[in-house]
Amino acid sequence: MIPIARPLIGAAEREAVDRVLKTGALTSGPEVAAFEAEFSEHAAGGRPCVAVNSGTSALHLGLLASGIGPGDEVIVPSFTFAASANAIALAGATPVFADIDASSFCVSVEAARAAITARTAAIMAVHLFGQPAHLSDLRQLADQHGIALIEDACQAHLARWQGRLAGTHGAMAAFSFYPTKNMTTGEGGMIVLADDDSARRARLLRNQGMEKRYLNEIVGFNARMTDMQAAIGRVQLTRLAEWTIQRQQNAAFYDGAIAGCGLPSVAHGATHVYHQYTVRIPDDHRDAVVSGLAAAGVGTGVYYPIGVHQLPPFAQSADLPETEKATREVLSIPVHPSLSDSEREAVARALNDAVAAVS
Ligand SMILES: *Cc1c(COP(=O)(O)O)cnc(C)c1O
Repeated sequence: MIPIARPLIGAAEREAVDRVLKTGALTSGPEVAAFEAEFSEHAAGGRPCVAVNSGTSALHLGLLASGIGPGDEVIVPSFTFAASANAIALAGATPVFADIDASSFCVSVEAARAAITARTAAIMAVHLFGQPAHLSDLRQLADQHGIALIEDACQAHLARWQGRLAGTHGAMAAFSFYPTKNMTTGEGGMIVLADDDSARRARLLRNQGMEKRYLNEIVGFNARMTDMQAAIGRVQLTRLAEWTIQRQQNAAFYDGAIAGCGLPSVAHGATHVYHQYTVRIPDDHRDAVVSGLAAAGVGTGVYYPIGVHQLPPFAQSADLPETEKATREVLSIPVHPSLSDSEREAVARALNDAVAAVS
């Protein structure tokens, strides 16, 4: 079976964890500080970075550190992982769902504009599948209305918009290091902030509200990353650029080799890092295509089969036709950097055959 994701953990990661274990210091320490500095330099344009225990915590604490809370509305696409909306709700704010742009799968700027009210505090762009949302238009829209631009960059390490790294366009961004993401720490996340004051608030929120031990300044969480995780992340970060190129090369191969279904399109100005390579299978043929691929030994994923606005915690009768169409049509195939040439050829052949069989 060719799996939809395959985390790359090698001898260097094992040695890094062993090095930490031998020190006996098992929680947050020098490895976390070094990981934050290195992530800032290589993946966050030098912005302050705060490492936490998950991407969801990064979004949640990042929103709180940005001053978003009860009474605020945050515009977010419904076509995303529920964590985007969960973080908004956990911050005490209200997610307001906007439809996506059909070609990028990211939030539609026009839909975001139409969703703005007097209570809107922020727009959360989700760089879905590794492609940044239209960050220049979203930035302009946010600036016009005096609201914050937030980036859910959990799938978009090293993606760029007009040459500038995803995660450095707004007030706050969150990255995830879950095992299926473009780099991993097992569980983990990174908050990227635009200024030192909000970075300090994020650090307080991460650790019980204290900077100096037992001098707690605010109510906070325990959302710390461990030094074992950070040590893995530091190794992974040294491989990220090379893995990203391999993802892009796999995607370019699929662009030329796959026929008969809707291929991903890359917006002008976007550098896509292909967390997922996602095609569209129209006319209710998706289940049959999934079965055909499974029979050929190819794992697939449907991200996401239900819009967040249709899930019980958020149920809203919003009119989001492109979101609902995408939930019926999308299918992701393996694009990860450990695919061999023969594996990606087998994936393309299996998809073409499965699509031909149902057309
Ligand atoms: C993975 C992901 C998250 C949450 O990250 P975790 O590390 O799993 O908590 C949030 N948003 C999006 C778009 C994601 O893909």
